Amino acid sequence: MKKFSRREFLRISGIGTAAFSVPAAFAGIIPIDVHGRNVAIFNSKFRKGIHTICDLCPARCGVIGFLRYEDIVAIQGNPNHLNNQGKICARGIAGVNQVYDTDRILHPLKRIGKRGEHKWQPISWEQALAEMSRRLQQIKNSKNENQFVFQADPHRLRGLTKRFLQAFGKPTLLTGGSYQDFNRQSANQRMWGVDRGIADAANSQYFLIFGGNPFETHPDFVQFNQRLIQARLNKRAKLVTVDPRLSNTAGSSDEWLPIKPGTDAIVALAMANVIVQNQLFDEQFINRWTDVTVNQLKSYLAQFTVEKAAEQSLLDASKIERIALEFARKQPGVTLTGGGLTNHINGFENERAVMLLNIVVGNIDRRGGICLPRSFPIPDFAPLELSNSTMTDFEFFETVSKNQQRVDFYFAYKNNPVYEYPNCELTRAVFKNEQQMPYIVVMDTVMSETAALADLVLPAATFVESWDLDSSPSYEMRPFVALAQPVIQPQGEARALGDVCLQLAHRLGGAMRNRLNWEISEAYFHSVINRLDFVPDDEGLIKQGIWYDREADPVYESYKNGGFQTKSGRFELAGSSAEKRGLAAYRPIQEHIQLQKDELILLPYKVNVMRNDLANLKWLAEIHHTNAAIINTKTGRRLKIKTGDYVILESKIGKMILKAHLTEGIQPQVVAISEGLGHWEYGNVARSKRFKSEDPDTNFLWWEKQGNGTHPYFIIPVAIDKSGKGQGWNDTKVRLYKA
Ligand code: SF4
Repeated sequence: MKKFSRREFLRISGIGTAAFSVPAAFAGIIPIDVHGRNVAIFNSKFRKGIHTICDLCPARCGVIGFLRYEDIVAIQGNPNHLNNQGKICARGIAGVNQVYDTDRILHPLKRIGKRGEHKWQPISWEQALAEMSRRLQQIKNSKNENQFVFQADPHRLRGLTKRFLQAFGKPTLLTGGSYQDFNRQSANQRMWGVDRGIADAANSQYFLIFGGNPFETHPDFVQFNQRLIQARLNKRAKLVTVDPRLSNTAGSSDEWLPIKPGTDAIVALAMANVIVQNQLFDEQFINRWTDVTVNQLKSYLAQFTVEKAAEQSLLDASKIERIALEFARKQPGVTLTGGGLTNHINGFENERAVMLLNIVVGNIDRRGGICLPRSFPIPDFAPLELSNSTMTDFEFFETVSKNQQRVDFYFAYKNNPVYEYPNCELTRAVFKNEQQMPYIVVMDTVMSETAALADLVLPAATFVESWDLDSSPSYEMRPFVALAQPVIQPQGEARALGDVCLQLAHRLGGAMRNRLNWEISEAYFHSVINRLDFVPDDEGLIKQGIWYDREADPVYESYKNGGFQTKSGRFELAGSSAEKRGLAAYRPIQEHIQLQKDELILLPYKVNVMRNDLANLKWLAEIHHTNAAIINTKTGRRLKIKTGDYVILESKIGKMILKAHLTEGIQPQVVAISEGLGHWEYGNVARSKRFKSEDPDTNFLWWEKQGNGTHPYFIIPVAIDKSGKGQGWNDTKVRLYKA
């Protein structure tokens, strides 16, 4: 690989010392005409595009930010990007709203009133950094590094942040709220050493989805869906969705199976049984590459008949059998799982049971199957090992509330646990308690529910104002590396987290400074790019926003060279010798077995355009801003409730009131509520407040009278699957009655 000096790097990228003051001279600028897109009414000479990466969800799509003079006016997909191929979702487009949000935090703020009183004093970064580094030094001196608690989404715990946390010692790491699927990760890690498989969707002929709604919430939303649609159109691939709710995906499927929540494992095991009984299994793969034999598998699965599965799941036995046979005969096909499957207290076993379907047909890391992730190893960018291995993330604040965990310094980066954790009331009480949480720092773009209770609030740069590198799993089965670079100067005094890590490390000195010995994050990314020996064309990476080997063909069945990343080197269905768990089991959720006449299972669900942390983006809030208690028409008749009636939902920890909506599109024992609404902080748009500002749109908030919806996490208690450490978001039993 050609090595280049900083001077050469700056020449290639067009970045000089005046980079931020002259954005049109930034890295990888392309004239709009290259892609022939018409993004704005301005004359094309004012529109310049700069490649970067969207970080509003873990999909990390390649995007282009378009400038008019020094303002970003549009965000569109980067057609060069291997994964998203020029397409992005509504959230990425609305990234512009985040930059110019009139509620955006633009300066460091220090609390001067009581917690939650909203009394703030703007302070300098110097003062903020001095205060934080003094406290961090005290923690280091006392050798109680785990009393520094750092919370961020996993895809943000990389690069300089990872270096900072590793150099600090062993801080306690919390990795996010309801989007974190610990059960799925943990089950996959133990089976084949990866967090999740990647569906080779473009080459599949059958998609069997359990509890997933990819048309709204897949972690690789754009990447996966465009290939699924391609397979549907080009290969007439079949789509079957097993879900209690007629989601957008279920509604677009060939068949919808409205399953009783939490019973997926027995359905998947019965399907696997049908496949092996009909001799449709891949004997060679099972015997050679798993830790069980075909005979062991056959005799274990024999107990799971379709009749038993039908009794538990309330599905039709003949349908379970037919779908199983279809899936096995119409290969290559894949199963796909989502939070509807894994966000249960039996979610770990559910994930293992569904994976068994891919195993019996042997469609692992094969064309059109469920594949190992293909990505490049970037120094500092591998997942950070979590230190709090005995603590489950969602139990953390409960433990603090019982004074069983000490927290001297809590830092959240674009995370909002007061809103995003189960039992919000308990988490809110912990954050208000100055004995239990003596020092809280939140770095974010808006005043979230957690930031409102902080001692120090720091203005965070958005993704179009920051550097980053990414090698997410490839959906073309060839790895790539992509570069994020600033499209514009950070607004106000906002800074990137990497720069704050550098500045804190320099103040702490010693080994911390040695590990983070760059002046600015740009210089760090320059040094990382220089070390990417597999990239022969740094200039291409900078100009195109992505590099991959265009000559390389996808390689399948890579496990045949060296095995799977497990102790045995095999796909571990029964567990390693150190941790023998046996084959996937069905563990019924006891609370759901006997439901009284007015009792239902609460199912919170995610809507594509309304993530919990995007509620203040005006284009998204205009699309989705209210929610209802969605119940089946039969349930409504039984409880004498009509659409539009106010109803009360009561769980063992609280009550909420909202309007009912009746539909045929939901399993009769379920009440569903969309998430991401009902903010009590977070800015005016999130709270549906019309107001006057320099942005004329804020005075046209036409949905003000409809309110801003309700937030179901207030009535969802902490309920942990001990095997996978995931939260049982979908297990709360509620009483539903007229208000
Ligand atoms: S799927 Fe949407 S939000 Fe996620 S990275 Fe892509 S454009 Fe951004």
